[in-house]
Amino acid sequence: MSEEKSVTPPLEVFHEVVEQSSVAISITDQNARILYANPAFNRVTGYEQEEVVGQNESILSDKSTPPLVYKNMWQTLLEKKAWSGVLVNRRKDTSRYLAELTIAPVLDSSGGVSHYLGMHRDVTEVHRLEQEVLNQKEMIESLVDAAPVVIALLNLEGEVVRSNQAYQNLSEDMEGAAPAVE
Ligand code: FAD
Repeated sequence: MSEEKSVTPPLEVFHEVVEQSSVAISITDQNARILYANPAFNRVTGYEQEEVVGQNESILSDKSTPPLVYKNMWQTLLEKKAWSGVLVNRRKDTSRYLAELTIAPVLDSSGGVSHYLGMHRDVTEVHRLEQEVLNQKEMIESLVDAAPVVIALLNLEGEVVRSNQAYQNLSEDMEGAAPAVE
């Protein structure tokens, strides 16, 4: 029987994985000063690696994110826990984008935070589509509600799960009876 050995990939493999990742990755010191940024970071933010190294990550802040968000972020990080959230970021060309960001503390051998690992992606388009679906849902609901005909949606048990204003008015006229239920 062959003995199974765990093989650790060489360091260059880790480096290539980070370099080729489609997620924007940055590594900072304890003060959020950028030490490294991968090519995806450059694509998302518009900043070249040499422009951001030595800068604080706040270079990406649009300054419209409420300070409480940052306070909670740092509180979580100082507890040596990972933080995730959505921030309003600003690219080099000053255009805004929504960044879905995760920051993970990197611990040294004595358990102290030595670095932070930041991973983010631009979710502006996903957010816009979600908002569009939500707006359409609200528009359909208000049209159904304002319709001059009685509309009710029943589940398989014959219970009314959605109804419009006309249905509710009819139900009131019938002294609380459910018009759609036999
Ligand atoms: P700050 O001067 O940073 O102050 C905001 C609050 O954070 C204050 O309560 C302050 O006391 C506290 N704080 C700041 N630095 C520290 C620290 N080193 N230790 C403890 N508490 C601290 N911000 C973005 O807007 N967009 C990003 O994409 C982004 N990515 C980040 C990635 C990483 C890996 C890290 C570590 C941080 C990232 N940040 C990001 C946070 C950023 O460093 C700033 O804290 C943030 O942008 C607010 O900047 P500010 O100058 O307005 O306020």
